[in-house]
Amino acid sequence: DATKLKDWQIAEEAEKTMPTVDQLVEKLSLEKDELIPYGKTPKVDFLKVMERLKNKSDGYYIEVTAITPTPLGEGKTTTSLGLIEGLAKRGVNVGGAIRQPSGGPTMNIKGTAAGGGNALLIPMTEFSLGLTGDINDIMNAHNLAMVALNARMQHEANYTDEELTRRGLKRLDIDPKNVEMGWIIDFAAQGLRNIIIGIGGKKDGFQMQSKFGIAVSSELMAILAIAKDLPDLRERIGNIIVGYNRKGEPVTTKDLEVDGAMTAWMRNTINPTICYTAEGQPVMVHAGPFANIAIGQSSIIADRLGLKMFDYHVTESGFAADIGFEKFWNVKARLGGLKPNVSVLVATIRALKMHGGGPAVVPGRPIPEEYVQENLELVEKGCANLLHHLKTVKKSGIVPVVCVNGFYTDTEAEINLVKKIVKEAGARCAYSNHWLEGGDGALELADAVMDACQEKSEFKCLYPLEMPLRQRVELIAKEVYGADGVDWSPEAEAKAKKFESDPHYADFSTMMVKTHLSLSHDPTLKGVPKGWRLPIRDILVYGGAKFLCPMAGTITLMPGTGSDPAYRRIDVDTKTGKVSGLF
Ligand code: ADP
Ligand code: MG
Repeated sequence: DATKLKDWQIAEEAEKTMPTVDQLVEKLSLEKDELIPYGKTPKVDFLKVMERLKNKSDGYYIEVTAITPTPLGEGKTTTSLGLIEGLAKRGVNVGGAIRQPSGGPTMNIKGTAAGGGNALLIPMTEFSLGLTGDINDIMNAHNLAMVALNARMQHEANYTDEELTRRGLKRLDIDPKNVEMGWIIDFAAQGLRNIIIGIGGKKDGFQMQSKFGIAVSSELMAILAIAKDLPDLRERIGNIIVGYNRKGEPVTTKDLEVDGAMTAWMRNTINPTICYTAEGQPVMVHAGPFANIAIGQSSIIADRLGLKMFDYHVTESGFAADIGFEKFWNVKARLGGLKPNVSVLVATIRALKMHGGGPAVVPGRPIPEEYVQENLELVEKGCANLLHHLKTVKKSGIVPVVCVNGFYTDTEAEINLVKKIVKEAGARCAYSNHWLEGGDGALELADAVMDACQEKSEFKCLYPLEMPLRQRVELIAKEVYGADGVDWSPEAEAKAKKFESDPHYADFSTMMVKTHLSLSHDPTLKGVPKGWRLPIRDILVYGGAKFLCPMAGTITLMPGTGSDPAYRRIDVDTKTGKVSGLF
């Protein structure tokens, strides 16, 4: 009973019947050597499976996104896992792919990202605490570039040009005031945001200001998520800009001759790890990049594999449809050459009420009664936000299915009202109780999705790659966010002109940076804000991932740990070694 048990207790029970590696090989008709053992959660050998199945046609490709989030939660991961469980109840070969959680949020306020209730990912402890080490590998690869950078700066400071030449080195002349890259660690460590390194003597490194970011904000994580295959990953790793020389020209990992070794540290990360839903369906866990500067979703590699191994492959986009779905649509699907069939747009009755003008929810205080009692007026008004995102999905040609993720407070009349409004807007709508009941509660959703998969989807990107940057941003702002237009700061405009005229940036992806808490750039505006323009202050460049990130908001690459973090409640049973307190 999901209302009485904590997630880690449900996980513990479900893990007793979790499939073994042998069962998985049989279930997925894999060759034995295509799964690489890693304790309870094997990795799939991407290169081997893709080679063997290269001529097999792809399964149905289903994405899960959501309305604009509220503090009341929408449940995208929970719904993705519930949908997989529901489809399995209908007897189809189904699996999925989700992100690997970061240690930062897991130990902090938000908790892990394993879904919840009976739509949960197992083994939950392994999933939440490092899994098969991909993030560790990324940290080593990333920090190796910083080791190379600082050592090079020290040697260039200590040696003459002649002495450098004798060692086979050419002076890179990196400007210490213009270093881009910092170090990474996978916790929310605000005390490491601004640091000084290299204090001490001549041989103690080059003294300079430096910084730490959270591991999942690393450009390497961004690259792992969008790399199509190993050659693509290798090439992008070499083009990461670590800083600029005194002439202002970029210096890359290739210039430091560290790109090959970085790829070597990351060699195992191209293979997704297999975990399971609480009901035993395979779910790959692969990559977990930030949703603001990167795509914020699991990898293209995992989706390519899933589309070969499963007849129905389900994946989740981080954040709301204006951010997560837009990137899924115009970046992930395009770069991967993938054709999605269905997008599930998740909403909850309670979140709709908040978009309809319901009162704010204050942490620590009882939830206002609008969210507990029936209130059709707030639900109806809040549906404007849902309909806006629905229209966005329709523009992509992907077939939308709205899912109302069920809470115990929902009333029959409220549910029917949402169904009526969605049907009038010409889309399927299902009510789903997977959190409480697992796959049995998700049958309505599974049927709606299977039905939608039969509809012909006419996938098309919002803009062609030939479209100049500023025009793309204008289109995204108007068509996806509902803005009246875009205002560029002089600095951003100057950069945009440079990127538009330089063919080097022709194949760079446009990766918007905007709050997900509102359709607009102002996180306090709920519903569908009208009469506003999107301000772009700056544009970030990622040379390896090939992203241009127009900034309509601020981002911090190193979140802070709050005063009541999750680690206060996490512990190990010293008799059994079991971990408790993860959520
Ligand atoms: P998202 O992926 O959108 O961030 P999650 O699926 O991780 O959201 O869910 C956020 C939290 O809300 C989780 O702790 C989950 O257990 C809880 N949750 C999700 N759906 C429900 C539901 N229908 N009833 C109760 N709790 C839910
Ligand atoms: Mg999630």
